[in-house]
Amino acid sequence: MVPQSHSGSATANPLIAPDPAPPALKNKPKKKSLRRRAHDHSQQLRLVFQAVFLLVNIWLGGDFYLWVRQFEVTSSAYSLKRPAGVEGWLPVAGMMNLKYWLATGHIPAIHPAAMFLLLAFLSIAFLFRKAFCSWLCPVGTISEYLWRAGRRIFRRNFRLPAWLDIPLRGLKYLLLGFFLWAVADMSADAIANFMHTPYGLIVDVKMLDFFRFLGVTGLVVVSLLVVASLFVENFWCRYFCPYGALLGLVSLASPLRIRRNAETCIDCEKCAKVCPAWLPVDRLGSVRSAECTGCLACVAVCPVESALAMSLPRRLESKRMRNGLPAWAMAAGIALLFLGLVGFAKATGHWQSHVSNAVYRQLIPHPSEAQHPMP
Ligand code: SF4
Ligand code: SF4
Repeated sequence: MVPQSHSGSATANPLIAPDPAPPALKNKPKKKSLRRRAHDHSQQLRLVFQAVFLLVNIWLGGDFYLWVRQFEVTSSAYSLKRPAGVEGWLPVAGMMNLKYWLATGHIPAIHPAAMFLLLAFLSIAFLFRKAFCSWLCPVGTISEYLWRAGRRIFRRNFRLPAWLDIPLRGLKYLLLGFFLWAVADMSADAIANFMHTPYGLIVDVKMLDFFRFLGVTGLVVVSLLVVASLFVENFWCRYFCPYGALLGLVSLASPLRIRRNAETCIDCEKCAKVCPAWLPVDRLGSVRSAECTGCLACVAVCPVESALAMSLPRRLESKRMRNGLPAWAMAAGIALLFLGLVGFAKATGHWQSHVSNAVYRQLIPHPSEAQHPMP
C-alpha cells in the first residue's frame, strides 16, 4: 500500500488535515489578480448533517428493536408503532417497489417508505452528486470516523496501488449488477406476491436479526472491514457498497459537478491531496467521476477564490452562481429533497406498511421459535 500524504490547508477546519505551509500565491504568474478564498464552512456543515443523520439512525434502530421485542416478550398489548424509517436499510425492497410503482402506477402497500427513501437519495445523487454518501449515510459517516481515527493513530492513511484498486472498485458494480438483474427479472405481480409473503412482510426484522445474531463468519468480516477502514479511506464504500455504486451512476447525469478554473488555479495540488475519493482534481477541468461524493473537501482547501467550485456548466450559470453553489445551498437542497419526499409520503398515507401489529405478532417468532436466517 502507498502511504498517503495530506497537505490540505484548512487550518481552521477540523475535517481537513492541517497544512503548516500556506501556498505562495505571489509565485503564480499574474494572469489575474488572485483573491484568497474566504473561510469555508462546508465541512462543519457536512459534519453536522452526518452526526444528525447518524443519531437519527441510532434512534430508529433502537425504536425498531423495542418494537420487535414487544412481540418477543409480551403476549397481550402491542402498543409500540413500527418506525418505517428503518426501511432506508432495505434498498433492494426500495428498488422492487420503485419498479412496481413505475410498472403499475400504484404506490405499493408494503414497505412504501423504502421506495420514497430510495427516491430521495436518487434525487440527491442526480442534483448534488453522490452527496448521500458523504453527507447522510451512517455507514459512510462511520467509515469517515474510522479513517480519520486511523490517520490520527498512524499519522497517515494508505492508498492501494492502481493494479489492485481498479479491479477492487469494480466489485461494487458487480454486486449492483446482480441486484439490478434480480429486480429486473421480476414482474410487477411477482414483486407484489413476494412483498406479501411472510418473509417479504418482515424482511426488515430479518435484517435486524442478521445483525443481532451475527455468527462468527459475520463477526470476522465486520472486524476485517473495520480494521481496513482505519487504513484506507472509505474502504467499504469504495470497494463494496452497491448502493453507492447505484448513486454514483445516477450522479453522472448531474449538471452540477466540481469544476476547476485553470486560469486562476495555482497548481498547489491541495484539492487532489485532500480528496477522499483519490481523484486528480488538480488536473481535471471538471470532475465527472462516479466516485465523487460531493463532499466539498477539495473546495474547502482550495486557497484561491474562483479556482474550484461545485457549479453548473458555464452556459447555465447565472451571475449569482459565478462562484459556484454555496455549501449552505447544497445543504438546504439535500435537506429539502429528503424532508420533502418523506413529508409527502407521510402526508399522503404512503409511509407505513399496511400491516397491523396483530399480523406482525403472527409473523415475528418468539426467541424460542426463531431460526435467525439470513435476510
Ligand atoms: S472531488 Fe472534491 S467533492 Fe468530489 S469526492 Fe473529491 S474532494 Fe469530495
Ligand atoms: S484548484 Fe486545486 S490545485 Fe488549483 S488552486 Fe485550488 S486547490 Fe490548488
